[in-house]
Amino acid sequence: MRGKHYDSLITFPPNFVFMDQLLQFTDRGIYCEAGDFYIDPWKPVNRAVITHAHSDHAYRGHNLYLAHRKSVPVLKYRLGSDIQVQSMDYMESLSHNGVAISLHPAGHIVGSSQVRVDYQGEVWVASGDYKTQDDGLSTPYEPVKCNAFISESTFGLPIFQWRSQQSIFDQLHQWWRKNQDEGTASVILCYALGKAQRILSGIDTSIGPVFAHGAIANINDLMISAGEPLPEVLRITADTKKESFRKALILATSSVLNTSWLRKLAPFSIGYASGWMQIRGNKRRRAADVGFALSDHADWNGLNTAIEATGATKVFVTHGYTYQFSKWLREKGLDAHEVKTAYVGEQIDESGEGEGFENTNILNEVPLP
Ligand SMILES: [Zn+2]
Ligand SMILES: [Zn+2]
Repeated sequence: MRGKHYDSLITFPPNFVFMDQLLQFTDRGIYCEAGDFYIDPWKPVNRAVITHAHSDHAYRGHNLYLAHRKSVPVLKYRLGSDIQVQSMDYMESLSHNGVAISLHPAGHIVGSSQVRVDYQGEVWVASGDYKTQDDGLSTPYEPVKCNAFISESTFGLPIFQWRSQQSIFDQLHQWWRKNQDEGTASVILCYALGKAQRILSGIDTSIGPVFAHGAIANINDLMISAGEPLPEVLRITADTKKESFRKALILATSSVLNTSWLRKLAPFSIGYASGWMQIRGNKRRRAADVGFALSDHADWNGLNTAIEATGATKVFVTHGYTYQFSKWLREKGLDAHEVKTAYVGEQIDESGEGEGFENTNILNEVPLP
């Protein structure tokens, strides 16, 4: 947990000017007073609606969790099998204190949900993390009409424009084949939850054997047992023969950098899969030989299209380039605000477990909207 970091990040009370709203921004998370529940709270609460199982959205210590059915196995794996969790499907609705709560596809990772809250006809939607591109594995993002929309803005600058998923996979396959010709292992660094499964579901497994680090294999197993159509991958164990890596693609989290685990795969080439790879310089800073700009967050156009499609006139921007993006939305005529939360964007972090935002200093390098 990065609790220490959050404490310095969250400064209150600026958000308290929004106290009379259906959803409020408090020092524990997004709160619905009428329904007495929180969305993705970062401090312990009684009732928590969880958008998805990344560590900056799903914390330990709540009395009751409510999440999409497909998030539950990973939530239990990460937070403990003894958590009290109620599961829901997309479009299903339940009522609490007269507030209707429903979950809608966010397209970010398997099971990720936008939370729609409806009280006496006033509708608010909290997006959690989302992407508008269909990755072929997560249920595709669906816009939900609302009066107010709470959006992330991890990649909320015009410089971020994703290429098609197919072109990224073509690039990856080409790199893998070239490494095979040279007898070099192809190591891809990615998140254990989300990115790893997206890569697995998109790669051409006829090219060669695919291995995964234990942290990724564990999440895969959970998803496969929950019915997700993922190819079987080989776990790397102490007995795995070195020769088997020469033609292999190996998925690992960035926590393996500078470890003996990684050194055993030598010779290898490192590829990094992250939206940040679209920025020149990040690849080099991260000791990667090649960067694949594959993100599980909406790009600039995705954010703008999504917000427009909600029809919301009020928008709250929770994480990422909140200052720049909320300013841009105000210029477009929306009632947009920046709010402080503990959510972080796509991170190039050392744990490789969840998500976090890293200051890449790109504000000095790119034009602002
Ligand atoms: Zn996330
Ligand atoms: Zn997040």
